[in-house]
Amino acid sequence: MRPQILFPLFAEVTSLKGVGTKVAPLIQKLAGPLVRDVLFLAPVGVITRRRTHAADAVEGEVGIFDVVVDRMIAPARPGVPLKVRASDETGFVHLIWFGGSPQHIDRQLPQGERRLVSGKVERFNGEVQIVHPDWIVPLDRGEEIPAVEPVYPATAGLTSRVVRKLALGALDAAPELDEWQDPAWLAKQRWPGWHAAIAALHRPTGEADLSPDAAPRQRLAYDELFAHQLALARRRRARQITPAPVIAPGAVSQALLTALPFTLTHAQARAVAEIRRDLASGEQMGRLLQGDVGSGKTAVAALALADAAGSGFQAALMAPTEILARQHYQRLAPMLEAAGAPTILLTGRDTPAERRERLAALASGEARVAIGTHALFQDAVRFDRLALAVIDEQHRFGVNERSRLQAKGDPRIGGVHLLTMSATPIPRTLELTQYGELEVSRLMEKPPGRTPISTAVLPLARIGEVAQRLKAAVESGAQAYWICPLVAESEVSDLAAAEERARDLRRILNIEVGLAHGQMPGAEREAVMADFSDGRLSVLVATTVVEVGVDVPNATIMVIEHADRFGLAQLHQLRGRVGRGAKSSACILLYGGQDGGLGETARERLETLRRSEDGFEIAEEDFRLRGGGDPLGLRQSGFPAYRFADPIRHRSLLLAAADDARLVLGRDPDLTGPRGEAIQVLEALFDWKTERGGLD
Ligand code: ADP
Ligand code: MG
Repeated sequence: MRPQILFPLFAEVTSLKGVGTKVAPLIQKLAGPLVRDVLFLAPVGVITRRRTHAADAVEGEVGIFDVVVDRMIAPARPGVPLKVRASDETGFVHLIWFGGSPQHIDRQLPQGERRLVSGKVERFNGEVQIVHPDWIVPLDRGEEIPAVEPVYPATAGLTSRVVRKLALGALDAAPELDEWQDPAWLAKQRWPGWHAAIAALHRPTGEADLSPDAAPRQRLAYDELFAHQLALARRRRARQITPAPVIAPGAVSQALLTALPFTLTHAQARAVAEIRRDLASGEQMGRLLQGDVGSGKTAVAALALADAAGSGFQAALMAPTEILARQHYQRLAPMLEAAGAPTILLTGRDTPAERRERLAALASGEARVAIGTHALFQDAVRFDRLALAVIDEQHRFGVNERSRLQAKGDPRIGGVHLLTMSATPIPRTLELTQYGELEVSRLMEKPPGRTPISTAVLPLARIGEVAQRLKAAVESGAQAYWICPLVAESEVSDLAAAEERARDLRRILNIEVGLAHGQMPGAEREAVMADFSDGRLSVLVATTVVEVGVDVPNATIMVIEHADRFGLAQLHQLRGRVGRGAKSSACILLYGGQDGGLGETARERLETLRRSEDGFEIAEEDFRLRGGGDPLGLRQSGFPAYRFADPIRHRSLLLAAADDARLVLGRDPDLTGPRGEAIQVLEALFDWKTERGGLD
């Protein structure tokens, strides 16, 4: 429920003065549908103006000149700018327009009249010129020209100045609100109250006020992070108070453990212990198992499945593709069955008879473990006593899909425990913003017996050599991936490039070469992947669609073309598809195009990969190199769309907000105390619950 005091902020933008039918769609697109959204639209810069004279105006500054209009020179032909010559007592000021209307300009600058004009100073032949002055007013209206003017994001048809007017209108609508932050913390940080902070946002006094380190900005960022962390912490609490089946390790998992062809690494054993603590707690588990490609997440998951089956319940393991689900099934089912847990496979490609039989086994409870794809959460699927859902490659599923599987539980038994798995090691900052509601287990260590992958960084010009080396390797029985990048600009030409590469390699290697790409029908693509995984193909040319989770131990060579176009984490994942067996593996990163150049950061990035095979280290480094000021990149890497906060610049605020949120909810779970009520207003203000606060 939205507190009444916020009603003015949650009114439609159309309620703001100056928003008519023309402006409405533009501001809605730019800011959002509500007055609140305009209020939260931060300026991206400031213009600082100074009264100056023609003689001492400095190039690049924005000056205000007090001039008399001499004459207008209308353009003689198209393409020539319109000029007005004006002057003050120290010299000329030339005003220039490209494509301006002479009548309009003449009206603003009548010959012989005195005007205040402002704009960015350029010097041409020693004289001041201003291209497209931003203010022209008669002397008596001089105070209209702001000395410091915030610059807002603008779009065609909506200038920064109009946006500023709307923002000031929204500011007028903003009520004073009771303080929700801890007074001691505020005092320590020397932060203003919320209203003062939001006012300062729209009335900057200079460039420094725009810094993410300025006190009002920090305050707003902290509010935002705190509200988000609260939303996550609340969800986590809601989960924790949902009773869930008590699951304990038993004979089934003991038998499975004995059947595994290896002993667990310390990291795996610790993750298993963490999961078991959750499963035995009587509260619903929500845990993320993070581990690099090849770190052995499947075995950890399998033990959890066995625990559930052995405790008399059912468990499901869902993978994003048919081939992955099949691989899991082929590896796990024999061991699980032998351990006493009947296991079925459910995918979109079962025959009707198979499907009927398997669905019946699930519904009756006879099948204890179900392994499958999206087929697992379809309506027709009924479990008898589902207690645990494990989701592999969780980022490949939407929130909805995960919860649809969880919803297959039976309330009489309790909530379904959730274990999600991800092969993308993410920095702690991202972990907090993206998965703040989940507990996290990390597999930091790789199973023994891996030979390290030797990584080379080479210019694309040496592609011929690489192909020759590949030929020798393939002739002695090796398998190789060859990755062509997707160059977002045109899928068609990407595909053409991959097809051409496959043709080249067929010719050079004189063997059949597989091709897998995104535009192929899923079944066709998986068939090619299966041919590769079963050894019928030695070389697979692919765009990045190659499955992360697929395990082809015989594949020992990974060539990545235009490696500089990939993110580090992505390269690391691609590389992780080799080096899975005992044989030594190689990864060749080809960079640069025709020009062959490679920027310093790009080189440093690729070097990181050459140096390190530790996914967490690479993720942190990727994060560091990307730095702040790249909202697009950040968003792609999974940050929620923050308005004020920059999780990298405000990292320490993020950590504090996460602690604070948990503390507050621990003390006052329903937020009914005095600070609690103020916090409810804050929560409503940002509205993470219903908006973008998701797990995605
Ligand atoms: P991922 O974490 O990428 O899902 P997998 O679970 O597929 O990794 O494991 C990768 C490979 O490592 C598999 O072939 C698996 O059998 C093997 N493996 C897993 N755990 C161990 C271990 N403790 N010792 C040796 N090999 C292991
Ligand atoms: Mg896996």
